[in-house]
Amino acid sequence: MASPPTTILSELGFRFDPNNLYQQVATQVLRSAELLEVPRFLQLILAQPKNELMVHFPVRMDDGGYRLFKGYRVQHNNLLGPYKGGIRYHPSVSLDDVKSLSLLMTMKCALVRLPLGGGKGGVQVDPRKLSKDELMRLTRRFTSALGDNIGPDYDIPAPDVGTNAEIMGWMADTFINITGRAHRNQATAVVTGKPLAFGGSAGREKATGQGLVFVLEVLLPALHIDPAKMSYSVVGFGNVGSWTARLLKQRGSRLRAVIDHTGAIINEDGIDADSLAEHVRETGGVRGYPNATAIDADMFYKTRVDVMIPAALEQMIDEHVAAKIDCKVLAEGANAPCTPEADRVLEQRGVQVLPAILCNAGGVTVSYFEWQQNRQAERWSEAHVDEELRRLMHAAADRVTELAKRMGCDMRTAAYCSALGHLDEVYKIRGVFP
Ligand code: NAD
Repeated sequence: MASPPTTILSELGFRFDPNNLYQQVATQVLRSAELLEVPRFLQLILAQPKNELMVHFPVRMDDGGYRLFKGYRVQHNNLLGPYKGGIRYHPSVSLDDVKSLSLLMTMKCALVRLPLGGGKGGVQVDPRKLSKDELMRLTRRFTSALGDNIGPDYDIPAPDVGTNAEIMGWMADTFINITGRAHRNQATAVVTGKPLAFGGSAGREKATGQGLVFVLEVLLPALHIDPAKMSYSVVGFGNVGSWTARLLKQRGSRLRAVIDHTGAIINEDGIDADSLAEHVRETGGVRGYPNATAIDADMFYKTRVDVMIPAALEQMIDEHVAAKIDCKVLAEGANAPCTPEADRVLEQRGVQVLPAILCNAGGVTVSYFEWQQNRQAERWSEAHVDEELRRLMHAAADRVTELAKRMGCDMRTAAYCSALGHLDEVYKIRGVFP
């Protein structure tokens, strides 16, 4: 049975819904806040985002007709710095999902000690069904609808599921064109994850996977797993899944099975991550990859591996899937991939869960480096980006490990507590206005 939300959520009028992602995430965060005994005002502030923006905007389609789209931008908290978080293009984007992801961004930035707050946005659309021109018009119209609700000092979007560097380039160009002259020379910093030639950072495309690999470097040896010898499986072979796999290949790890929206594949001798990434680029998914055998989802989840890496969408691992999984460690590349019931089943079965706000923080960390480079008109080498990313990811992983030991709690609770402790410290200094 799902545990009911905290008193604060009940006081704020939430009607208990165990399947609601926002209630699940907020409950986990607020339970950690209770454990850490952070002040009630901080729990109240974090229980809801500061701003929730919803826009409807028309887009001219290639056939000359118009479609109306719904977009969101949720700004959860900006205590530590400008709101920061991705833009998702997906048909099932909802306000609750975007709220959940914005809260996770607040936690992630605080955990890594970045001078950034938490935000998230999205448009209800299946980008695969639009032509490139339609996608560009939609992006430009969405950006203009957001207007000065985004900006390099205020709220800085980035790519997420269904968006990429090209789309970020269109967003930045639109913002530069609609913003006043006074802000133009810094306006490129309005979004991160841009193409390299237009203010992007070296290492940004692979950053989330790279960050996850740096986290595993610190945490796996303590769990008696050698990355050079381990076997693993991946759920989702998009940006996060494929880059994680390509970087793990360089360390000698064996990719045994992969599942994505098109199907599942296995090869006991190992799947070559680079050639699978090429196949996905050409065909849109893992189905039909020639050097592996097709399997069903049930068999995928039952495949024995040392580490499983969910890197697709939220809540894909429920209690039924969790009961089948045969791994020692589950490293969350995706945001909120496990339901609270799944967490309980995994704990009972002795699976160590490494939480998303730690494992996938590499993306926002290199986004922060990109923002810094844009503002200082600098260009960092990939080696420098990697070195700085390694330093920050190792520090965050050490912080979580140390706190989990000290508090005698699981890694997810420890990660939230580390983030909450930092937010609490800064609120104590700044106070609540007025
Ligand atoms: P993406 O769009 O590049 O890839 C998503 C993957 O999920 C695809 O391989 C798709 O096939 C797969 N997928 C979709 N539905 C599926 C299903 N029903 N079963 C199995 N697989 C399915 O997205 P991404 O950028 O790699 O993001 C993945 C996750 O990581 C998301 O939770 C996102 O919020 C999170 N994340 C991404 C970044 C980033 O920098 N891209 C940073 C932090 C967190």
